[in-house]
Amino acid sequence: MTLFAFVNGVLLLPDGSQAEDLALIVADGKIASIEPRASLPSGIAIADLQGNRLAPGFIDIQVNGGGGVLFNDAPTVDSIRKIAAAHHRFGTTAFLPTLITDHLGKIQQAYAAVNTAISEGVPGVVGVHIEGPFLNIRRRGIHDASKIARLDEAGLEAVLHSRPALTMMTLAPECVSMDQIRMLKAAGLLLCAGHSEGSYAEISESFACGVMGVTHLFNAMSQLSGREPGVVGAALASEDCWCGIIVDGVHVHPVTLRLAIKSRGSLDRFVLVTDAMPTIGQAEKRFTLNGQEIRVRGGACQNSRGRLAGSDLDMATAVANASTLLGLKLPEAIRLATANPAKMLGLESHIGSLRPGLDADMIEIAADGTVRKTWIKGRLVWDWQAEHASACQEALLTCS
Ligand SMILES: [Zn+2]
Repeated sequence: MTLFAFVNGVLLLPDGSQAEDLALIVADGKIASIEPRASLPSGIAIADLQGNRLAPGFIDIQVNGGGGVLFNDAPTVDSIRKIAAAHHRFGTTAFLPTLITDHLGKIQQAYAAVNTAISEGVPGVVGVHIEGPFLNIRRRGIHDASKIARLDEAGLEAVLHSRPALTMMTLAPECVSMDQIRMLKAAGLLLCAGHSEGSYAEISESFACGVMGVTHLFNAMSQLSGREPGVVGAALASEDCWCGIIVDGVHVHPVTLRLAIKSRGSLDRFVLVTDAMPTIGQAEKRFTLNGQEIRVRGGACQNSRGRLAGSDLDMATAVANASTLLGLKLPEAIRLATANPAKMLGLESHIGSLRPGLDADMIEIAADGTVRKTWIKGRLVWDWQAEHASACQEALLTCS
C-alpha cells in the first residue's frame, strides 16, 4: 500500500476554513484521513508542504486545447494527453476535453478518444463536452457557421451513440424542441444553454425540461434587458441554474460578474471555466481555428477582426482573478473551481474537496498563487521545482 502524509502546510478544508496544524494522509490514491500531525503513525513517509497551501485540484468543464493542441484539430488520445499535461501545470486535475461546433463524424471521433483515454487511465480526463453544433447561428461567436446544424435523427445518433458516461452538451434551446431536450436529459447528458438567443420564456421552459446550466454566462447569448430578460436573466433568476463564467477580465467586465453573483446572493451555482485554447502552457501565442489565424492580444485570443476565440486563460489565473477582480476570498475562489464543478458533474463523492474517501487529487499552491505541485489519485503529475531545475540545466544556468 502506498501511504504518505502531507505536513507543514495550510489545508483548505471543505467548510472554507484553512487549517495549519493538521496532516493529510493519502493511502492508495485516496485521502485516507485528516488528523493532527502529532497522531501520525511513526515511520510514515512525509511530504513537506513548506508552509504552502494544499487545495483540491481544479476541475474545468470547458477545455478546447492546451500545450499547442486544439482538440477539434485531432480528437485523439494523444491530444487529450498533451492537453491534460498542459493544464496540470496550472492545477487542473479533472477536465472535459471540449469539442466546439464541427461535423457529426468529429463528435464520434471525440467520443472514441475520450472513452479510450479514460480506459487507458490518462490522468485528468473525466468526460467530454460537446459545444455545438446545435447552436443559434446568430450567436455563433467564433464557431463555423457552415457547421452549425439542426438536431435531426443523424444528429441525435451522433451525440448519443457510444457516448462517454459523462457527456456535457451545449445547445441553443430555441433551436431544438423541448421533447428533444427531455430525451437528451433522459439519456443522461448534462445539458447547458449557450450560443443562444432564446427568450426568457424559452430558456425557462428548457430548464424545466432538463437544461441544467448556461455556458459562459453573458458571452454569445441574449442579454438581460428591460423588457426581455433573455438567457442571462433566465439563468440568474433560476436558483438551480449552473453558470459557467470566464474570469479573464476580457470576456465579461468584472463589475457585470460581481452584479451577477450579487443578484443570486450565493456562489453555490457558479463555476469557473477557462474555455482554454492551445496557447495554454505554450510560448507560441497563436494558432489556427477553422482556417483563421487566432492570436493572443491583450490577454485574449482574437481573430483578425477582434472577435474572441476562446481564451488564453489557465485555471490558476482564473482563480487568482476571481479573487482580485471579483473580490472573493481565496477559499471561495477555489470553491468555484473545485467543489462547485464537482457537484455540477455529479462527481462530488469522488473529487472536488479535501475529504477522507475522495480521490487524492490535490495541488500545492505557493503564497504567490503559483501551482507548485499537482497530484492525481496521489500520483505527482506536475512539479514546478523539477521543471524549473531542468529548464535551468538546459540553459546551462545555475539555479539558486
Ligand atoms: Zn462558446
